[in-house]
Amino acid sequence: ARSGAAAPVFTQAPGFGDRVALIDQHGCHTYRDLYLRSLHLSQEILRLRGCVDGDLQDERVSFLCSNDVSYVVAQWASWMSGGIAVPLFPKHPPAQLEYFIEDSRSSVVLAGPEHVQLVGPVAERLGVPLLSLPPTVYQGAAGEPAAVAPVQERKWQDRGAMIIYTSGTTGRPKGVLSTHRNLTAMVTGLVHAWAWTRDDVILHVLPLHHMHGVVNKLLCPLWVGATCMMLPEFSAQQVWEKFLSLETPRVNVFMAVPTIYSKLLDYYDQHFTQPHVRDFVRAICEEKIRLMVSGSAALPVPLLERWKRATSHTLLERYGMTEVGMALSSPLAGPRLPGSVGTPLPKVEVRIVSESPQRNGCPYTVHAEGDAQGTKVTPGLEEKEGELLVRGPSVFREYWDKPEETKCAFTPDGWFRTGDTAVFKDGSYWIRGRTSVDIIKTGGYKVSALEVERHLLAHPSIADVAVIGIPDMTWGQRVTAVVALKAGRSLSHSELKHWARHFLAPYAVPSELLLVEEIPRNQMGKINKKDLVRQFFPESGQ
Ligand code: ATP
Ligand code: MG
Repeated sequence: ARSGAAAPVFTQAPGFGDRVALIDQHGCHTYRDLYLRSLHLSQEILRLRGCVDGDLQDERVSFLCSNDVSYVVAQWASWMSGGIAVPLFPKHPPAQLEYFIEDSRSSVVLAGPEHVQLVGPVAERLGVPLLSLPPTVYQGAAGEPAAVAPVQERKWQDRGAMIIYTSGTTGRPKGVLSTHRNLTAMVTGLVHAWAWTRDDVILHVLPLHHMHGVVNKLLCPLWVGATCMMLPEFSAQQVWEKFLSLETPRVNVFMAVPTIYSKLLDYYDQHFTQPHVRDFVRAICEEKIRLMVSGSAALPVPLLERWKRATSHTLLERYGMTEVGMALSSPLAGPRLPGSVGTPLPKVEVRIVSESPQRNGCPYTVHAEGDAQGTKVTPGLEEKEGELLVRGPSVFREYWDKPEETKCAFTPDGWFRTGDTAVFKDGSYWIRGRTSVDIIKTGGYKVSALEVERHLLAHPSIADVAVIGIPDMTWGQRVTAVVALKAGRSLSHSELKHWARHFLAPYAVPSELLLVEEIPRNQMGKINKKDLVRQFFPESGQ
């Protein structure tokens, strides 16, 4: 019943009994612990809401938890009580928390005791009841409460499961409502493609309010009965310690955003300087770890190469979005082309289509169309860039409370418009960037900011870079490189141009260089390029 049932992961938890589901700062937690504690918490939520029939009927339950067992229990309890889970992020300032609680019209806020001070006043201002999580969430497996059967037998399929807010890279974050069927499709697709088994142990270091941390790193292991080892937050030192530790359970799966891999390599460069230590690191990683994944932002090829030298692993890059979960993935077995995001995951269908500014129903031209079985290319349109469209059971139901935006996000024939530009070549998909900010139009040419960034990052003086398009009377847009240098290095514009000409077409070579201390990136390593343009060129009016 597992694949067709579209029930939340917790419905399988009783079957995994005493297996260790989670290891965190509080200790080890079995599947039975998580299940029973969640049931208890769900009863408290129902009591608080005065809900006599035991089903919140899709009321939204916001929860603010640290990266530990309380997060899982709050999420499962939200579902068990018939609510839609809205995970909040402890590092968000009160104004942002207020936006999420208010926008989702949550009817209750759950908070770990350590976060009550932060979110309490917000909840009070909004008139939403706050439930501070009781100690039973963190330890002990209480006896079975009464109402188990109705929860297990509920018709989950098309009920709303979760509202995750987009990263807000291109505007105010939008609430993405996914159903239980959507989540099950995401999880089963990844479990199959990346061959998850109950013997896997994943090290979790990402925030838990985006798909990457919630679905790929938490729901997948919990679905198969594996173990998730959760750090309270990312620390390069602790990650290396876990990789290299000989204690059981031993971490064998890791996933992160490119910025984290970059920080891990900085630590490696500083602390693992001796050749024999480096040999040891590479040998242990090769032997112990079966899968290392990168996603959420483009993985620069120089970074992939450095990581391979350090650990022997070629990172598996994948592409996904809040609205669709994961869509494209490099193969688990078989060649991973650096800079590419592979092919569609199971049940995901994609298309590359002619840029369709007409969001009003005009037909579009299909350049390439594919699914997990393969891709067909339209003769004459081989390797032609276009907008990436996605269809399939993982695609979200709606932007919460935004029917107009939801409608605009789909083509009339039901495909979700990602807003990303992609191309299919060499049997693989390649992401060129966001059509709105990463595809720079200069002198009649289209330049992918991501491509330029990839090359610039190989420069020995450059630590980080964002390439942006600046409005220009003559050229339409000018390719501009915002660069953070490595400590003690310098770089002039003419040096950069001279160097870049070896790798880039003349029109793609940055016509301007801006040096900054640090490129501003959010928690998921993403750059808000509209903000960046506004910061440096306020007159551009973007
Ligand atoms: P908003 O929609 O609010 O502007 P966002 O699009 O950044 O924010 P997410 O849904 O978290 O919010 O991110 C999805 C986007 O991340 C994709 O549309 C794509 O641009 C980018 N992305 C994800 N994975 C990759 C990847 N492997 N390579 C390049 N870009 C990626
Ligand atoms: Mg988006």
